Amino acid sequence: MKIGFIGLGIMGRPMSKNLIKAGYDLCVCDIVKEAVEDVVACGAEKAATSKEVAEKSDVIITMLPNSPQVREVLTGKDGVLEGIRPGAIVVDMSSIDPNVSIELEKLVREKGAHMIDAPVSGGEPKAVDGTLSIMCGGEQEVYDKVKDILLKMGSSAVLVGKIGSGNMTKLANQIIVAVNIAAMSEAFVLATKAGVDPKNVFEAIKGGLAGSTVLNAKAPMVLNRDFKPGFRIELHIKDLNNAMNAAEAAEMDLPLTKTVLDMMNHLKEEGLEKCDHSALVRYYEEAEHVEVKPL
Ligand code: NAD
Repeated sequence: MKIGFIGLGIMGRPMSKNLIKAGYDLCVCDIVKEAVEDVVACGAEKAATSKEVAEKSDVIITMLPNSPQVREVLTGKDGVLEGIRPGAIVVDMSSIDPNVSIELEKLVREKGAHMIDAPVSGGEPKAVDGTLSIMCGGEQEVYDKVKDILLKMGSSAVLVGKIGSGNMTKLANQIIVAVNIAAMSEAFVLATKAGVDPKNVFEAIKGGLAGSTVLNAKAPMVLNRDFKPGFRIELHIKDLNNAMNAAEAAEMDLPLTKTVLDMMNHLKEEGLEKCDHSALVRYYEEAEHVEVKPL
């Protein structure tokens, strides 16, 4: 079985390397030459276009920034749909608008091929370890054919429902993560302003009910003033905008999501959009003129 992999960024690069380590034969493509050379050095074959990846692959994985890039790579000139073979499976692991997954699956089906959406949670460290959480949408028979491949990149893969359900689940995940980071930032700035060491606050609460994977991953970054991504603010803005669109379609409000989205947009205006989303703390720090760091 040959696997195509398109999109070798922060996430796609380690994910593709884990597939090579697991013994799969890979054909890869990205618009960044250095990323391609790096994965080729680990044993992958290079393709010039997404069409060429599709021509050579039984399973085509995409790990791209957002809906426009996935649409372009699949339906654009020299795209996947120009080369895809009947019976092949597209696994889009990018976090995109669920309605775009539904739209693209129809086009893939018209070629006699199949598609599932399979976005991930866990960030770069878990992409490197191969312990991502993968949330899938699509047909059971299609999911069953790629499950073993997914479990070389993640420690869990769950078929949530029909096509688009993976990305709807990812939006739920991103709301929970964003609001958690905002709550952590708010709490740490309060403690710091009151003269209590935020490092000690973290140590004291991490084993209790407020403890979480988000807290364990992001509190050390804040305390070490290390905002290297990780997960960029601009990508989280993209996810929260997708969540707002989904809420509009469902005719409901997302008051907490909207508040955190406004904070992230404010940081983007200040040029911090390439920082890790833990830099949300800067929003509070600027307002309160403090810095969250060990006393
Ligand atoms: P990234 O920007 O680092 O990587 C995207 C890659 O896609 C880049 O290498 C880029 O060159 C490539 N690309 C863009 N357009 C292309 C095209 N037309 N053809 C070929 N390649 C193209 O982003 P990332 O952090 O790896 O995230 C990828 C996806 O995973 C996003 O949807 C993101 O929301 C999601 N995600 C990221 C994280 C994280 O922590 N970084 C965690 C979970 C999910």
